[in-house]
Amino acid sequence: MISRRSFLQSVTLLSATTSALAANKWAQQRTIMTVTGPISANDLGTALIHEHILVDFIGAAQYNPQRWNDEDVIKKVLPFLKEVKNAGCKTIVDCTPNFLGRDVLLLQRLSKESELHIITNTGYYGGSDEKFLPPQAFTETSSELAARWIAEWENGIDGTGIKPGFMKISVNPGTLSKVSQKLVEAAAKTHLRSGLTIASHTGPAIAAFEEIEILKKQGVSPDAFIWVHAQSEKDPNQHLKAARMGTWVSLDGVSDSNIPQYVDSLTLLKKERALHRILLSHDAGWYEPGKPDGGNFRGYMSLFKQLIPALREKGFTNKDIDQLLIENPKEAFTIKIRKL
Ligand SMILES: [Zn+2]
Repeated sequence: MISRRSFLQSVTLLSATTSALAANKWAQQRTIMTVTGPISANDLGTALIHEHILVDFIGAAQYNPQRWNDEDVIKKVLPFLKEVKNAGCKTIVDCTPNFLGRDVLLLQRLSKESELHIITNTGYYGGSDEKFLPPQAFTETSSELAARWIAEWENGIDGTGIKPGFMKISVNPGTLSKVSQKLVEAAAKTHLRSGLTIASHTGPAIAAFEEIEILKKQGVSPDAFIWVHAQSEKDPNQHLKAARMGTWVSLDGVSDSNIPQYVDSLTLLKKERALHRILLSHDAGWYEPGKPDGGNFRGYMSLFKQLIPALREKGFTNKDIDQLLIENPKEAFTIKIRKL
């Protein structure tokens, strides 16, 4: 007679095995998950790996998707998506997490109407003094939180069937708070079951290396981790150190006003042979519910109009540009369990 406890353990083990097998299947097929379903990693094309369609800063306590109207958002945002599609972009990774305006049906409509691949996420946002965290982020264990995120991966988000293509979490800057540590642990556990890459809003290096240590303790390789907003760290040696550990270093604040800084950073990274770990994007967009007409929406063009021509002038080749905008995003977002 098998005890209830060992029966439950073997069921858990079996479902972990099934899940790992499923994740292996994704890895073999080199798949990336978009809001319209899985695509071959080779179809990702030129990708902006950190952008936003909509962000609502109201906070988890007052969070309510009724605060925006899909038609209004589409009218405002679609022209910007079409503009960047015409510039050669094929994919937008939407980094707006749950409780900050992640609206996957809206993203799916925008994807179909713009003919861009759009990728959404699972995970919780712990930065901004934990204002965007739901109550369970404080009360549940990392395993319980991971179970929620894994369920979104396995069954789809909020009954839509739309699956996340990566995790987006966020931690406080500086030494990690207990809650931030727990979110990183939950992300590690989710990764080991799903193969989803972990993008963490981080900023300066202290928090980034603490996160990498937590991931390693959980048995997750640094190449499953995207150090988001790494440009906030001003010491380029920290970027190099992370890149050499295999981490993805996301320089995702490109705008018309900072092209020379990006050219300098990238020139150094190229000289140090680290371009293969670097991701670029604008962190632009941001239809803001509650503001007239969604506020001041920022388009996604600086990279195409300003940065790429400036890099070419500095001797960057087509191969370098493709590495940054096609090959690295493809590698970073391919669903694959990456163990130490
Ligand atoms: Zn962002």
